Amino acid sequence: MSETMPKPVASFFPALRLDELDDALAREIKEECGVDVELCLECGKCSGGCSNGHIFDYTPRKIVQLIKLGDRERLLHMDALWTCVSCQLCWDRCPSAINVARVMDYLREQTYKENVPPTRKEVALFHELMLGSVERIGRVAETRLVLEFNIKTKQYTKDADIGPKMFFKGKLNPFTSGIKKIEEVRQIFRKNPLRKEV
Ligand code: SF4
Ligand code: SF4
Repeated sequence: MSETMPKPVASFFPALRLDELDDALAREIKEECGVDVELCLECGKCSGGCSNGHIFDYTPRKIVQLIKLGDRERLLHMDALWTCVSCQLCWDRCPSAINVARVMDYLREQTYKENVPPTRKEVALFHELMLGSVERIGRVAETRLVLEFNIKTKQYTKDADIGPKMFFKGKLNPFTSGIKKIEEVRQIFRKNPLRKEV
């Protein structure tokens, strides 16, 4: 990625007042994701195990605390939403089985619904191109995905050295075939209002 790390969003938001807190967001997360943040012990095992915690502006433990505090705006603008790699290590390590990865998915969905721009446009673009491939042929056509991504981000020579090597070792298939029941996959996309054309 050519993007540099965006500034932490902490300074953009006013300090929270304890007498103004409500648990609406915690209830929403419980209802929509089946995740009860009130079970958090604040042990920090999720943050310690997080694959990308070292570049997050808010670590998984802090994210859970922000949900408890009801700070929706800060959560929807945080950079961590776009650097989380959905590895689920946070969930795996949590003694209370709090699925932070599912919460991150849900928060990303809310940024789409509420038109909150992603802090890392290239990551959002990659998501869209990957989903576009699934919609088109039912699976990810890796070679085309990488080419499309490099062209759209104007990184024309980015993989020029490694691409041919992978091709000749049989690691890149330029002719990924589609699945037979592609219409069923497309129906799922038609029902999903979140996807954007890129
Ligand atoms: S799913 Fe996201 S938040 Fe959880 S450990 Fe992986 S990168 Fe970190
Ligand atoms: S591992 Fe679970 S209980 Fe511990 S801080 Fe993270 S979310 Fe809370």
